[in-house]
Amino acid sequence: MATYSHSRLSTFEQCRQKYKFRYVDGIRVPGQSVEAFLGSVVHEVLEQLYEDVRHTKVPDSDELLRDYRERWEKQWSDDIIIVRKRYTEEHYFDMGAGFLRDYYARHHPFDEGRILGLETQHFLDLGDGIRFHVRIDRLMDEGAGVFSVNDYKTNRSLPGQDEVDSDRQLAAYSIWVRERFPDAVRVRLVWHYLAHDRRLESERSPEQLERLREEIRRVVGEIESCRAFPPRTSTLCDWCEYRDICPAWVHELKVSKLDEHEFSEDDGVKLVDRLAELEGRSLELDGEIAAVRADLVAYARRYGLSAVAGTESKATIVETESAVVPRKGTPERQVLEEKLRARGLYADLLSLDAAAVKRLDEALLEELGLERTTKAQVRLKRR
Ligand code: SF4
Repeated sequence: MATYSHSRLSTFEQCRQKYKFRYVDGIRVPGQSVEAFLGSVVHEVLEQLYEDVRHTKVPDSDELLRDYRERWEKQWSDDIIIVRKRYTEEHYFDMGAGFLRDYYARHHPFDEGRILGLETQHFLDLGDGIRFHVRIDRLMDEGAGVFSVNDYKTNRSLPGQDEVDSDRQLAAYSIWVRERFPDAVRVRLVWHYLAHDRRLESERSPEQLERLREEIRRVVGEIESCRAFPPRTSTLCDWCEYRDICPAWVHELKVSKLDEHEFSEDDGVKLVDRLAELEGRSLELDGEIAAVRADLVAYARRYGLSAVAGTESKATIVETESAVVPRKGTPERQVLEEKLRARGLYADLLSLDAAAVKRLDEALLEELGLERTTKAQVRLKRR
């Protein structure tokens, strides 16, 4: 039976190359970002806090922070990557401590219901051999048939209500809660945004959950039939553990370590520089060509010519009349069409191309609210 998780589906949607590295090739890279490390330690501390509460022991906030420090110091390693170089390990440690302090103050004495599960490890059967991993940070029975799925977030960005209302992760977990606890009348989805000391909530109807089940099956189907895994670069690449082996970055990382001479001698660098130079020249040339065409049209008009001879080529100037016609679907276009219909000219003139415009006299053009314009084309042929 194939097992999927929220993070597996999200990785596929974020970047297929990353998905391939992690889930197809099974490549594990040592090290993690400091943000992921902070999130993991904070989750462990909150899990321990509620485990203690479950055993009737409510630790004081100093004890909580001591636990945080001990876990941080024990698990910190040189593999942990700090992308934002202005900040140090200490800054991140203090951020996490602040999250926990605020959370403690807001939720003490942690008695909002009966704790049913912490960091759960269950699977939701989606049919056709697809299992979805259900890992709930904290599952609560709040009484009277109300359950809550609680998730801790340590990221900086706070989503809007519309985003949590369309979130897939907790909603999928709530399918499992409803199956496991048939007496559930409501399942509240609760996100604790620790960096903002904010709590966001949402809920799904049984119909929405049925649609979600289908949606997950659809994404799984897409993954299972996927044969191409191209990289998709974004700002998230800075935090991607596969950056050093990613085809979108390997060359840039390699040449960034070369000295100036080696850099300029690299074949890839030379090819890209040549292409950039040629494309720059091609843009310049396009501008020059347009200017010469305009001069040729002016020259031909001045001398009443329709062709101008060069040494080996000849330029033919073709002028066509047309009218500025309002775009289809606009109110102005509707008015024009009504006028044409009223005069019985609709079928004949609707295209209003050059041939049609030529047949219109000035009075009719004015009545229709159209302006005559002349376009000149220059065609160059070898003589
Ligand atoms: S570095 Fe960027 S493009 Fe490459 S695998 Fe990671 S996320 Fe994808």
